[in-house]
Amino acid sequence: MNHSATSLHAEPQTQPEHFDVLIVGAGISGIGGAYHLTHQCPGTTFVVLEAQDSFGGTWLTHRYPGIRSDSDLYTFGYRFKPWTGTPIATAAEIRSYMGEVIAENDLAQYIRYGQRISSAIWSSQDALWTITATRGDTGQTRRFTANFLWMCQGYYRHEIGYTPEWPGMSRFQGQIVHPQTWPEDIDLAGKQVLVIGSGATAATLVPNIANDCAHVTMLQRSPTFFRTGRNAIEIADELRKLQISEEWIHEIVRKKILYEQSAFTRICESNPDWAKEQLLAGVKHYLGETFDIATHFTPAYRPWRQRIAFIPDGDLFQGIRDGKASVVTDEIETFDETGIALKSGKHLDADIIVTATGFHLNVLGDIEFVIDGKPLVFADTVTYRGMMFTGVPNMAWVFGYFRASWTLRADLVADFVCRLLNHMKAKGARSVTPALRPEDADMKLLPWIDAENFNPGYLMRGMHLLPKRGDKKEWAHTQDYWNEKDEIPAIDLDDAAFVYK
Ligand SMILES: Cc1cc2nc3c(=O)[nH]c(=O)nc-3n(C[C@H](O)[C@H](O)[C@H](O)COP(=O)(O)OP(=O)(O)OC[C@H]3O[C@@H](n4cnc5c(N)ncnc54)[C@H](O)[C@@H]3O)c2cc1C
Repeated sequence: MNHSATSLHAEPQTQPEHFDVLIVGAGISGIGGAYHLTHQCPGTTFVVLEAQDSFGGTWLTHRYPGIRSDSDLYTFGYRFKPWTGTPIATAAEIRSYMGEVIAENDLAQYIRYGQRISSAIWSSQDALWTITATRGDTGQTRRFTANFLWMCQGYYRHEIGYTPEWPGMSRFQGQIVHPQTWPEDIDLAGKQVLVIGSGATAATLVPNIANDCAHVTMLQRSPTFFRTGRNAIEIADELRKLQISEEWIHEIVRKKILYEQSAFTRICESNPDWAKEQLLAGVKHYLGETFDIATHFTPAYRPWRQRIAFIPDGDLFQGIRDGKASVVTDEIETFDETGIALKSGKHLDADIIVTATGFHLNVLGDIEFVIDGKPLVFADTVTYRGMMFTGVPNMAWVFGYFRASWTLRADLVADFVCRLLNHMKAKGARSVTPALRPEDADMKLLPWIDAENFNPGYLMRGMHLLPKRGDKKEWAHTQDYWNEKDEIPAIDLDDAAFVYK
């Protein structure tokens, strides 16, 4: 069945349009889902609904100067499509890669843009989701029904970033900008720019605007770990010289990167001091022995408790070394007319303040979920391996890895969903709902993520909105690619954790 984009204009709608599967979002996860469905579940009807006007998700939303991946594209790219560029890629390069996936696999016919889903209502009697979406251009709503919902909506609100409320913000006479809504017409020439934050976004933005403004200062409350290195992978370049096929290069380089990441993660756990020294040596290489690395680039937490951003060619540190950028580690006392007064008593003058302060976690795409007449309280559910939820029928979501590339998990979850759909078809089941088994009755329920293990701000702020986890691997989102790559394909779909009807 070909659901072409022309059916979009068939208003007014009398009957909801029906699909076997409805994918929410056309980011890296949703486009991957569409690819896997066409390859692993041929004949399944499906549609991808996307609120924005094009594909890309994160890589479309974020348009600040220098926007790039902080993980390598060999593992951030799909397992099925070789990556042939430099390992760290710009948003434009990632979108172009995704565009090729869409074109090469004829996926455009399945995607509807400008469709924001506002509600998803499940009826057990019909074993169907009824989904309402609103068109961005006309404001018209459309209804869809689907047997299965595949949530590829990411983890944060795309329209607006997170800016804390600081005292005195309204007094500031200059411009306040969040990187997620970067104004196209911003004029940096001759300006003093102050970037608040020191995560991957700030670390990308600072060197990329340093030449366009008078001076840029990165203001951080506390330091962050960074990895530095060349934006190249020697073995990939070697293999290309030998004219090895790109499919082979993709596979070999993926394996090598994953092996090295795993080894580093283990060292971070077993010998955090050594790992810390290695990371700090990379910073020292650019900033020299006399720079105060202890104050500005030596975090108090263990490496890997937060994602470690990769700084290609140490560009952030080169900017600081060359005097175009500087870093201040201090706390904000108040904004005032001319900038920011710090707790130390110092004052930072600014014409433009950039709040690189993160995201608003939005757990299920700000969609209102109702199950058999009852609003779904997501925090009352328990996750099945971070993919499905107790009491929520025919629904899977994609939440990738924090420490390894997101797409590694998007591919694994896609395999699982396709296998589950095929299994349901073979069984003649209309619905599948995860449920705790008798042996899970006394299982201790815990917050989604162990804050001792991983604790970025947007997750900590939104933990109360997330499902619970249990202390068994079936009921946890482990964030461990090395186990999941073997465990997810081996899941017994007839386990009592899956209730079929
Ligand atoms: C600046 C930045 C850099 C990052 N760099 C990396 C990196 O280098 N490596 C890495 O592994 N991860 C990185 N991440 C994490 C990143 O978000 C994921 O890796 C990945 O791109 C997420 O893909 P996704 O398709 O799951 O979600 P998203 O990219 O968030 O896309 C979700 C899509 O769903 C749509 N959507 C949401 N709600 C609705 C709704 N109600 N109705 C219709 N459509 C909806 C959105 O408009 C969006 O297009 C980065 C994140 C950010 C913000």
